[in-house]
Formats: sequence, C-alpha cells, structure tokens
Amino acid sequence: MIKASCHCGAVQMEIETAPDTVNDCACSICRRKGALWAYYSPKQVRVLPPSGATSIYMWGDKMIEFHSCKICACSTHWTAADKTFDRMGVNARMMDPEVLAAARVLKTSGPD
Ligand SMILES: [Zn+2]
Repeated sequence: MIKASCHCGAVQMEIETAPDTVNDCACSICRRKGALWAYYSPKQVRVLPPSGATSIYMWGDKMIEFHSCKICACSTHWTAADKTFDRMGVNARMMDPEVLAAARVLKTSGPD
C-alpha cells in the first residue's frame, strides 16, 4: 500500500499498489493541470475523506469529475461520473517522489 496526499494534507489517498506507468496526457485539461495519471480500479483506492474535501470540475460531455483540494487546489484525482465505471485516475504527483521516480512516464495526446 502506498499513500498520496495533496500539499496541505486535507485529501489523503491509500492506494493498493505503486504505479508501473503514469500517463502524461496532453489533452486540453491534463496538460494545463500538469498531472501524471496513474490508473486504478476505484476498489484499489481509498480517498479520505470520501467526499467534501475536494472541488469537482466537469466539462465537455461531463463524463469525468476532476477533483482538486478545496484548500490547496492540488489536482488529486479523477473519477467517472458513472460510478459503475471501473477506472479512476490518481495524480501521481501527489505520491512520494521516490514512487513517481520508479514509474515509467508514457505520453499520450488527447483528442482535444
Ligand atoms: Zn490540500
């Protein structure tokens, strides 16, 4: 189990495994956030507190909720609006630097 947290510590995540790869996504939102996404099943990630500590941003087709800490504004994770969708993204920049350094960075270009 590894831990991740935003800068101020209001948002904590407990994650089953360290990521082998992280995605440096070049879509219109991810490139602005500067996030490196590690993908998991929501069953593998415990977000604490489960709600209330983050602001949610949605855009376009509103399929994805981008969460950022209400206090320090770090982009912490995204979840699908459809809660049956078995995938979420954790911003690996919230993980310890050693954990991120051990992961391979993939680059994808988003559709927009
Ligand atoms: Zn914070």
